[in-house]
Amino acid sequence: MADKQTYTPSHPHLLTVEFGDGDYSAFLKAAKPFKSGDIVARITGTRTRIKSYLTLQCGRPSDHLILDSDLKYCNHSCNPNTVWDISAADMSEWHVRAIRDIHTNEKITFFYPSTEWEMDQPFECQCGSEEYNCYPRPNFARTDEVLSANPEHIPTSYSSGLTTASLAQEIFDWEDSRTRDHYRTLDYTHLALIMSIASVARIAYISSDVVVDSQPPRPANSHFADTYQRLTRSRGPYEPTVVNVPLGADPGTTLLSHRSSRLQSFTASSSSQVLNRLILHLSELASTPLVLHISVEDDLSQVLVLRSLVPFFLYSRNTQEAHDHALLAARLARVEGKAVLHAFQATTSNRISEASGDDIRQFLLSEKPSAAKTHGHANGHINGDANGQVNGTSSVPEPSPADALLAAYESALASTVSFLRRPLRPVSHHGPAECENLVLAVGSIPDLAVEGVSFAHLSLLSPLPVKAILSVITPSVNRILLVEQLRQWQTKWTPLYLELLSVLQNQDNASLNLHSCFVSNGDAVTAVDVLKLVRDASSSPSSQRLTIEHPAKPTQVASPHIPKHESAYVKLLDQLFGSRLDISNSPSLVPSEGDLATTPEFAIGRVRGQLDAREELIASVTELISDLNITSELHALLSQWLQAKDDPVKGPQLGDEIVSLLMSEQYVKGAASRVLILREHFAVQSRWIIGSDAWSYDLGASGLHHAIASGLNVNILVLDTTPYSSRNAADPNRRKQDVGLYAMNHGDVYVASIAVYSSYSQVLQALAEADKFDGPSVVLAYLPYQSEDAPALDILKETKLAVDAGYWPLYRWNPSKESEGKDPFVLDSDTIKNELQRFLDRQNHLSQLVRSQPQLAAELVSNLGDTLKEARRRRAEQSYAELLTAIDAPPVKVLYASDSGKAEKFARRLATRAKMRGLSADACAMDSVSIEEIVKEQFVVFFTSVAGQGEFPQNGRTLYKSFNAAIARSEKPFGEVQFSVFGLGDSHYWPRPEDAHYYNKSSKDLNKRIEQLGGKRIVDLGLGDDQDADGPETGYKAWEPLIWKALGVDAIELTEAEPEPITNEHIKVASQYLRGTIKEGLEDATTGGLAPSDTQLTKFHGIYQQDDRDIRDERQVQGVEPAYSFMIRVRMPGGVCTPSQWLLIDQISDEHGNGTFKITTRQTFQFHGVIKRHLKSAIQDINRALLDTLAACGDVNRNVIVSAIPSMSKTHAQAYAFAKKVSNHLLPRTTAYHEIWLDKKLVAGDAVKDVEPLYGEFYLPRKFKVAVVVPPNNDVDVFANDLGFISIVNDSGDVVGFNVTAGGGMGVTHGNKKTYPRLGTVLGYCPIEQAIDVAEKVMLVQRDNGNREDRKNARLKYTIDRMGLDVFKAEVERRLGYTLQPPQPYTFDRNVDDFGWSTGADGKHHFTTFIENGRIQDEPGLSFKTGLRELAKVHKGRFRMTANQHLVITEVATEDVPAVKELLAKYKLDNLAYSGLRLSSSACVAFPTCGLAMAESERYLPLLIDKVEKICEKNGLRHDSIVMRMTGCPNGCARPYVAEIAFVGKAPGAYSMLLGGGYHGQRLNKIYRDSVTEPEILAILDPMIKHYALERQEGEHFGDFVIRAGYISATHEGKEWWDRAGGEGQWREAASA
Ligand code: SF4
Repeated sequence: MADKQTYTPSHPHLLTVEFGDGDYSAFLKAAKPFKSGDIVARITGTRTRIKSYLTLQCGRPSDHLILDSDLKYCNHSCNPNTVWDISAADMSEWHVRAIRDIHTNEKITFFYPSTEWEMDQPFECQCGSEEYNCYPRPNFARTDEVLSANPEHIPTSYSSGLTTASLAQEIFDWEDSRTRDHYRTLDYTHLALIMSIASVARIAYISSDVVVDSQPPRPANSHFADTYQRLTRSRGPYEPTVVNVPLGADPGTTLLSHRSSRLQSFTASSSSQVLNRLILHLSELASTPLVLHISVEDDLSQVLVLRSLVPFFLYSRNTQEAHDHALLAARLARVEGKAVLHAFQATTSNRISEASGDDIRQFLLSEKPSAAKTHGHANGHINGDANGQVNGTSSVPEPSPADALLAAYESALASTVSFLRRPLRPVSHHGPAECENLVLAVGSIPDLAVEGVSFAHLSLLSPLPVKAILSVITPSVNRILLVEQLRQWQTKWTPLYLELLSVLQNQDNASLNLHSCFVSNGDAVTAVDVLKLVRDASSSPSSQRLTIEHPAKPTQVASPHIPKHESAYVKLLDQLFGSRLDISNSPSLVPSEGDLATTPEFAIGRVRGQLDAREELIASVTELISDLNITSELHALLSQWLQAKDDPVKGPQLGDEIVSLLMSEQYVKGAASRVLILREHFAVQSRWIIGSDAWSYDLGASGLHHAIASGLNVNILVLDTTPYSSRNAADPNRRKQDVGLYAMNHGDVYVASIAVYSSYSQVLQALAEADKFDGPSVVLAYLPYQSEDAPALDILKETKLAVDAGYWPLYRWNPSKESEGKDPFVLDSDTIKNELQRFLDRQNHLSQLVRSQPQLAAELVSNLGDTLKEARRRRAEQSYAELLTAIDAPPVKVLYASDSGKAEKFARRLATRAKMRGLSADACAMDSVSIEEIVKEQFVVFFTSVAGQGEFPQNGRTLYKSFNAAIARSEKPFGEVQFSVFGLGDSHYWPRPEDAHYYNKSSKDLNKRIEQLGGKRIVDLGLGDDQDADGPETGYKAWEPLIWKALGVDAIELTEAEPEPITNEHIKVASQYLRGTIKEGLEDATTGGLAPSDTQLTKFHGIYQQDDRDIRDERQVQGVEPAYSFMIRVRMPGGVCTPSQWLLIDQISDEHGNGTFKITTRQTFQFHGVIKRHLKSAIQDINRALLDTLAACGDVNRNVIVSAIPSMSKTHAQAYAFAKKVSNHLLPRTTAYHEIWLDKKLVAGDAVKDVEPLYGEFYLPRKFKVAVVVPPNNDVDVFANDLGFISIVNDSGDVVGFNVTAGGGMGVTHGNKKTYPRLGTVLGYCPIEQAIDVAEKVMLVQRDNGNREDRKNARLKYTIDRMGLDVFKAEVERRLGYTLQPPQPYTFDRNVDDFGWSTGADGKHHFTTFIENGRIQDEPGLSFKTGLRELAKVHKGRFRMTANQHLVITEVATEDVPAVKELLAKYKLDNLAYSGLRLSSSACVAFPTCGLAMAESERYLPLLIDKVEKICEKNGLRHDSIVMRMTGCPNGCARPYVAEIAFVGKAPGAYSMLLGGGYHGQRLNKIYRDSVTEPEILAILDPMIKHYALERQEGEHFGDFVIRAGYISATHEGKEWWDRAGGEGQWREAASA
């Protein structure tokens, strides 16, 4: 260790605390919250000192801790209480090591003062330990975080900013990629280089609203990006939008798209590929607040090209200057509203003092942007100004533009200097005042002491600081050497030289000689170089340019790195073409040709030269053949070569023979000599240009179009390495062009899309075809990877997913096939595209195919009868054709947010109609796009429905939230976006006046937000109201024409008919009797879901696709698909099963489902949470239990339900037998179920011969429900079913016939008065022998007369009301061939279950147990599932489900009763000590699995009952049965519309409250309150139940009472259900009055 060392800060992020003499009590306070193990900062003296306590563990490395202490240096403590004094330490590399060596578990906070620190004593350890044995990583607490958590401790002098911890993180991030040993030999020069750029990046980040960062070729990150990422991670108060522009993309376009920001910064390393792109746009950008920070290594050639295009050009030659100029540039750009180019040297600097972030912001905001901007040229050009007033001495009152710019610079400079308290000058001068030579330096030329020479460094290059320059030209100077750091300047004189010359000439100083001198490496210039330069200048005319040569830095000649994965394709090319392979832009050319050697332009030039040479060879060979003096052997060889010149094998062989003959026979003149010179072209080459997908951002600018349009025989391989999951990170503001489509549009170009990890053979085929094709070929190759370390398996998976889903279609387009009469297009990826929709939602950035044809995904699988493969191929080809023609059409983006699908339908219809008008349109969910993607659109039309109380529909919430966040940040990204919004809502959904603002709230909010984000509204908000005569169509019809008008296509006449939207009817008929593509979808392991059309079909198989709605948002944020699972419903007529079946059901729920199962209101089991992988085995296991799931859902007859009257066992047996017969009779006949789930073979191979004698290929318009009831217990709610059979029993207890009811149904749509619940009407009586026939004919009349246009109006109840009951009945009877008899008398007295033990007519015993809402599960303290399993093991009778979701253990022999009782007691299954209210309650599933749920039901009703029970109890009604039901939506699965009290979900926590249903299901209830929350429910029920308790009549049920008491009017039939809703008289809801 050195005796005396001075450590100076070498990192820009270090100064966080400024100390001075004075009171440090604030810091003492700040120390308090620190715990043992922390470093506690404490000031101990009046000098700048911090005393720290370190509690460190023994034996840990610390030989690099730098400690200044009055107590001697200690690098290592064995005493946990040792007190260490750390003096004013600044961060140096020593500390970097120190931080690195701190133990993992310790939290450390450093405070750094700004003063310099000197260590003047040797470094010693008190304990003498030399151990250095661990390299753990510490946890760092940020100083500012600790302090901000304790604001009272923040000292006044504390300034937040990046701290040691940030630096440490950086070091460790950096270290991550290196080995420890590498770290130990760390070259701090490299670190300093990062720091120099990091300092500028930090200012850019803190000062700007938008930072645009140019990226190097993937997978590398720009040096600037490292800092941005770190700052973003640190979540500081500044959060600019950071936009990454990939190499090859045009950054100018991105900058223009953000020009409205208050300040934007562009950061890049100097490279012609990046800077040349800016030239086109700088004239437009010059008058915007923009700072271009360009880091330069040695050559200023590229950046100086831009000098004349920007109003201000600053140059920094060291890190401190870079920091200070970055601030000055920000201030200047912000205040003047003009572009400032700041070029800075990325040289090693080891000292820097930085301003804190808050101070910077304050400094920048302290002066408002100038209202009257510095006048001058709009484009900022100042050089060569017409009036030539550049010397600052003009007497013209109006300053010249250059003077005005100079004045602006000086003003900003003055502010910056006063802020920084450091000198900052446009020209800095050093050296003797009296000397003859002045070196005016532009570059990193060091300050040298040279006799007779003074130096002036130019920091302001534009506008030229004439006055300052003249001030350093002392009278003794007679020679000025303008030394510019230029390596690749093309013209003799630089603009700066000419401008300076003009200035000097204006000075009339004839004796001054101005010499131009180029230096290739400014840092390397020595005093000797300068002396030599002076000597050369004295002996040369000033018109001669001088140079100081230094070898180029090694980095200039290094070949670009080729990521290892990408070399896969190069190896393939090598393997295929061997020595013929010529990569025309090979990175190996860079050292000799410069970095332009990898561009397409360079490659095309090279190819053109090679092809010309070969042509010349051919011409020379032809000429030589005609030479009569050559030998016959040579003649023969030449002729053979001409014949076989394109043969890759024979061509070079013959060439070799020709060459050796020519040489042996000494042909050296004329054509022969040319042939020898050109001999390398005998072999036909396979010429390839290889590029990245970055080229596809700007086809024109990247030079790719030159290659495509060149017509040359060259092959272009474009590698797309961006996985779709990170597509936005590359450049969210820019859209990649589809190079394939672009090339195909050119006509004579071979195009192929390949993926080596998907189809190796297709890759080989495509590469060979491309090579063979005589003309340009474009091969797009997919190779998605995140980093070089990405395992091949990840790439394989990603590729497979992309190809299988159509994200990356594999195809080949070979125009030469056309001449052979063959189809030029071959789609090679013909796997099923079940997932296409998923990828569409993720915004395929390359394939415009799917972007413009989103219905491809949804509709492809419902192929309307064709084979799937053919349909897909046809559709894909058609899509390509459409795309090619629509490539120029104005694009319209249609976005929707829709829960029920209604807004989506409107959106898709608009997109279809837009396409018919020649626009390029696509529709997708709002959440499938980001703000950045919308910014790229010109016209965007939004459709949104409204969820709950004005909330956004689920699939639009994320985007909407990001709108709000952007508004909070005062962003206005939609400056170029034109938009309109259409909303769908129901003005009566929330009828109370105070809730009126919920109507169409989402669309109104959205409309406002987009405008706040800068969007230009082209058509006012359109509102569709369910209450209008034609529903939302009424508003829509008025709004749509305005859209066409705004888009300028209103005059277009549509000649073709609008395609019919795909409906369930189409899906059914195209499904080949319920097959669809379910089988293929089950095999698709890439998604947990099925294709949308298949999810409609699986319902017929008893399977519903669902997703866990509790985690839907979370998964969406994660960018993964919903957590799909399936609900399986068993078909079990009458709900009867054996104990062995029960055991199997129990086992299936464990093995395939979520461990529970549910008894449903249709008397069967359903399982939830079955994932796709288990679906088939679950159905097979159900089949093993001799059960099935066919027709448990879907537009068919559903599970037939039967009264579960335990005491009437004989009657029940007959009713049950009849129910089974009905179920079997009305069962679909398709063999698809067995084929798909049970692996039964198709009838006669592939030829589907299914017929559906009852259903036909359309099946029913809607579901069809049948119930069989045995009075007096209407436990099945027979009137709530489409078809009901009321058993008529003779005196012997035999069922002799049925009263037939028809037209019951529960489903309603909130607010839609065309929908209503209805009770079945008794049609008449039929004897039992006719009943099956009656069931069939009723169903057939519905099949043929039901409304297939509108599913909301398709149930039998509407058919009957539309046809009229008499007509309907007559039609049934016509089909029967006889009339129904008059109904028989019957009586119902209840619809709740009879709980407890009963004995049947057969002497067997039955126990009805209470299962709350039918959920069979084990809960803490209630092991129902286990109990029933144990019971099933011993039970010899059966189990019978009830339609109220409870369970009857039936047919227990007398001798078995004790055992059963014991088990029931053990598992508390015999507990019936519930309130009458609870025993009479019922709820549907709703959240989290039901996709239609608007509010909780099964999970909430028990909690609500807890509270209502208390009301009942205090009014003495504990045992009184009141039927209370709840559903999560108005579909009404738990039959709420016949309950005495019902709650139907409207929004989370809000329900419609209905009253007045008949106790035994004989009367509908009615809406009493439109929307109530729990407190309102309790507030309503409390007095009402009390009123009932006090004033009810004998035997009067609650439903009857509320009508008699005048709370609600009675509903006599479905059609009048909406009438008089809202209560009666004094209890009428105010809004309903
Ligand atoms: S009533 Fe609605 S929420 Fe409840 S299960 Fe049926 S569809 Fe789902």
